[in-house]
Amino acid sequence: MRRPLIVANWKMNKTIDEALLYIGAFIAEILEEISVKGSVPARTWPEVVIAPPAPALAAVSAALTGTGILSGAQNIHWERKGAFTGEISGEMVKAAGGTYVILGHSERRTGWGESDEIVAKKTRAALDQGLLPIVCVGETLDEREAGTTQEKVSRQVRGGLALVSPEEAERLVIAYEPVWAIGTGREAQPKDAEEVSLLIRAVVDEIVGRGSGSKVRVLYGGSVTPENVGGFMARPSIDGTLVGGKSLDPAAFSSIIRETLRKKPLLKTED
Ligand code: PEP
Repeated sequence: MRRPLIVANWKMNKTIDEALLYIGAFIAEILEEISVKGSVPARTWPEVVIAPPAPALAAVSAALTGTGILSGAQNIHWERKGAFTGEISGEMVKAAGGTYVILGHSERRTGWGESDEIVAKKTRAALDQGLLPIVCVGETLDEREAGTTQEKVSRQVRGGLALVSPEEAERLVIAYEPVWAIGTGREAQPKDAEEVSLLIRAVVDEIVGRGSGSKVRVLYGGSVTPENVGGFMARPSIDGTLVGGKSLDPAAFSSIIRETLRKKPLLKTED
């Protein structure tokens, strides 16, 4: 069974002090509900990840210790170390307590020219350096209107997973984020997001094989709110959400988690 996953992408928001204030409020708001429900162990509940800006990662990771809530980075370089001014490596993220890394976000693809080849190298580096990659894919408005969504998303999935083995593919997370829905207040229709998530699974099956398409976790991202998240979570092939704007407010992000809990069935314990 695929464990639901909800990821907060804070982008370039919050200083260390602001981040710690948030974590305090967030824990007070949601921890009891997501850590233990009666006799059900924490790992049966959705996985929650907070990806703050790099300077706050170590402090956020430390503040989350023992809560079961994980942290992650928003980007890494593909090299482990060296003369790459302004960059951070997977090893550094891991050492700062991070578990996940968001890769190929559309803001990085458009603002920093990240190609599918670069995303593939970063995905490889993340796996080599002990991080779990969340690979973002999605079409622009022009592409959706031109009817080339499937072509674009297929190409990005093939490109981003080019250097990944079948065993590794099953640990990946792919976030379908239509570019026109990110930060615009205009979310996709759940049925359209589900259609693309099924396409993503089919492409993963085709390039990786071994039934990986049904094992990989696929998220939806793009103007997710407490009000609209239920529609996405009701779709069986969408395993969770990548949340930008609404993750900046601990109450709103907690509501998104609560709505996810309502829609996704309780997982069976492993023992
Ligand atoms: C994102 O940053 O990946 C995102 C989906 O942002 P928002 O939720 O604000 O659209």
